[in-house]
Amino acid sequence: MSESWESTLREETGAWAERHLLRTLIPAQQAGQTVLIREGRRLLNFSSNNYLGLATHPELGMAVAESVSQGIGGVASRLIIGHNEETEALEREIARFKGTEAALLFPNGYMANLGLLSALLKPSDAVFSDQYNHASIVDGIRLSGAQSYRYRHLNLDHLEVLLKRADAKGAKRKLIVTDSVFSMDGDVVPLSDLVQLKRKYNAALVLDEAHAAGVWGPGGAGMAHHLGVAEDVDLHMGTFSKAFGVYGAYVAGKKEWIQYLLNRCRPLIYTTALPPVLVAAIRASLRLVEAGDNLRRDLHERSAWFRQKLQEAGLSIGGSTTQIVPLIVGESELAIKLSQALAEEGVLAVAIRPPTVPEGQSRLRFSLMATHTKADVERAVAAVLRVAEQGAVR
Ligand code: PMP
Repeated sequence: MSESWESTLREETGAWAERHLLRTLIPAQQAGQTVLIREGRRLLNFSSNNYLGLATHPELGMAVAESVSQGIGGVASRLIIGHNEETEALEREIARFKGTEAALLFPNGYMANLGLLSALLKPSDAVFSDQYNHASIVDGIRLSGAQSYRYRHLNLDHLEVLLKRADAKGAKRKLIVTDSVFSMDGDVVPLSDLVQLKRKYNAALVLDEAHAAGVWGPGGAGMAHHLGVAEDVDLHMGTFSKAFGVYGAYVAGKKEWIQYLLNRCRPLIYTTALPPVLVAAIRASLRLVEAGDNLRRDLHERSAWFRQKLQEAGLSIGGSTTQIVPLIVGESELAIKLSQALAEEGVLAVAIRPPTVPEGQSRLRFSLMATHTKADVERAVAAVLRVAEQGAVR
């Protein structure tokens, strides 16, 4: 007799709960602000990707209000009648922002990665992916059926071994894909060295700038621009859901790449266009991002101070050099306990557990915002140090 779905589902979720890995949804109000409300408590918000604070910027609201007359729905695929002049203008603006020939707007970053990798890669190709790349990259590679090589996190020696191996096996084309700023670690890929390798082995480079776009580089153009290697990136991907404070994503590069994707990228072709209100909000946000040097300066200053204070206290923040700062504690139970204790102190940093991070590397993930005041960050550091002391974290 076949098994019942409910009992097997219950068994699995029960096992996750025992290991402190069960996820539940907790409503938050005012999540775009530096102080949000969760479970009836006002908490200093260190769990948002709204790095520049733009999610609540009045100019975004004004842009949305003006575009409401066009209707709310995206109404059809981009390739049917879901394309319009606003979107065309936005794509031109993205290409200018990234310094590329062309750009393509996507519904979100997950679909951008899923779509571009599954569209570009064929089974005769080899793809090289950092072990900690985002889940959307992992899934895009799986869907492509390409020969897949996973290299150890930021380990370019290992990458080179794998590039040689793929050549020996006769891979037709090679593509390296990596996050620029890693979402759970806040560390950065050594792009200059990576570019040397990609040239040496004649591979293409796809860069996911989800956590760098708007935050790093001149005008917020991203980490590739910050490190002076933007020309060597074949395809730049980024999302409008984080520093831009909206929703949606982009892929930018040479015309050949963009035209190919427009014709072959299933998560773009077979879904409805982004609603015009979001396109308007993204355009307004892009203007604010490009003019946002002061915001970026504040964010980097506060982040550097926060990292320094945690490190001085002997706490492990891994290799973070950005606005994302993990406090790596190990066991999931401890991470949850610390997150709760921190909330008692009025600070929110959500516990991140497997499978989002490897077993034994559970952590609190702090993300800083340009709108945090110096006093906010000082309060957070004092709370972290108190809680870490009591929870015996090192
Ligand atoms: N890439 C990375 C590195 C991410 O962190 C995320 C978001 N968690 C995505 C892609 C997906 O972006 P979106 O939220 O726009 O789907």
